[in-house]
Amino acid sequence: MAITARAAELRSAGEDVIGLAAGEPDFETPEHIKAAATAAIADGETRYTPVDGTSALKRAIARKLDRDQGLRYADAEILVSSGAKHSIFNLVCALVNRGDEVVIPAPYWVSYPDMVRLLDGVPVVVPASQSQGFKITPEQLERALTPRSRLVILNSPGNPSGAVYSADELDALGRVLERHPHVVVLTDDIYEHIVWPPGGFHNILELRPGLSGRTVVVNGVSKGYAMTGWRIGYAAGPAPVIAAMRKVQSQSTSNPCSVSQAAAVAALDGDQECIEPMRRAFQERHDFVVARLNAIAGLHCLPSGGTFYAFPNAEGAIAAMQCKDDTALAERLLDAAGVALVPGSAFGMPGHLRLSYACGMDALADAMNRMERLLGAA
Ligand code: PLP
Repeated sequence: MAITARAAELRSAGEDVIGLAAGEPDFETPEHIKAAATAAIADGETRYTPVDGTSALKRAIARKLDRDQGLRYADAEILVSSGAKHSIFNLVCALVNRGDEVVIPAPYWVSYPDMVRLLDGVPVVVPASQSQGFKITPEQLERALTPRSRLVILNSPGNPSGAVYSADELDALGRVLERHPHVVVLTDDIYEHIVWPPGGFHNILELRPGLSGRTVVVNGVSKGYAMTGWRIGYAAGPAPVIAAMRKVQSQSTSNPCSVSQAAAVAALDGDQECIEPMRRAFQERHDFVVARLNAIAGLHCLPSGGTFYAFPNAEGAIAAMQCKDDTALAERLLDAAGVALVPGSAFGMPGHLRLSYACGMDALADAMNRMERLLGAA
């Protein structure tokens, strides 16, 4: 947030700043989805809906989870929220009491630990370094679980690393979780569609269906359909957990936007081909950015399996530039090169940088040239 604010300040002062900090696709929402929203407005779908979402959208979500994951859900097992973030927050509110532990692999999406802290829970951060592909091992998971563990958060493809767990890796984590029946599992699948190769996505329930009685699947339309501003996400899981989440939502925000819900039906039920050009563009940019980053002195970037983020190790560059840490390097890149990106410490992994490649190739090439001019060629 600090970097984004500083970048905005520099821009308003007339500086030429390339923003690689954003967490949203740069594409327009597909036309058929916009048209469904326009039609919903014309048809008067402008009132409160049921707190947990329209039955039309719940049915579309159930069809999607059956089609793509082979998972079956009844309406009482689905909650529609104002974004996946909202569903996750409802889940944390419903589950976590003072002192409850929540296992969070790092690097993590920034909101997970802070949501847990808001509820007086204890984030138990499990570091998954670059040398292990930013993925936790079954042994690490086993060691992190205690009688106080309430929830384990899995996120694949992951923000900020782009790491994607294979079916075998998820199976192994699932076997550990099966030995700890008091623990609820959250699988945050929001980047499901942004993977390479296509079809490379799995979630833990596909592998270990025995966990379905205590696993909550969270997903949404924000990333895959370029619909971040519409604010529609959802959770699917055991009816008692979903009922508790619905209660939290009922007394805080009520239903998500009626018009956005109609648009989300069109996204989930409509032609899924609209995803592919965006997915392909992200993959091309990934290949370009990873190659360019690895040609810059002091940066080392693993190829990822999805998302629109690169997460290079920058320890060499931090030392060479005599910066105190990754935040100081990010500030230097902003001030001296006009490139805005996010320090890894925000995601629980200092010594790294997160670059979003949700921008055009020209801007990306320009940003890579600027970084290379400042840091030098490898
Ligand atoms: N989960 C992860 C890992 C994310 O990166 C994000 C957005 O950045 C979200 C959830 C939230 O998605 P939404 O826009 O649907 O609230």
